Amino acid sequence: MTKYKINDNCIMCGACAAACPVGAIAPGDGKYVIDQDKCIGCGTCAATCPVGAPNPDEK
Ligand code: SF4
Ligand code: SF4
Repeated sequence: MTKYKINDNCIMCGACAAACPVGAIAPGDGKYVIDQDKCIGCGTCAATCPVGAPNPDEK
């Protein structure tokens, strides 16, 4: 399963954290951060973000 990560475009609006179904997103240092152990890869954060900061973490 593909997890999501938030890049430096984040403006800390908090929309993704409110929308995440599993509560995986919290404010971090300068941007919001996704708990990789909780993320289920649903993509809701990416769909909600106004600046496209959350993206699939391709590895
Ligand atoms: Fe939450 Fe889904 Fe975004 Fe993962 S992909 S952080 S589960 S909203
Ligand atoms: Fe940052 Fe986008 Fe989440 Fe807002 S919705 S806190 S800009 S990642």
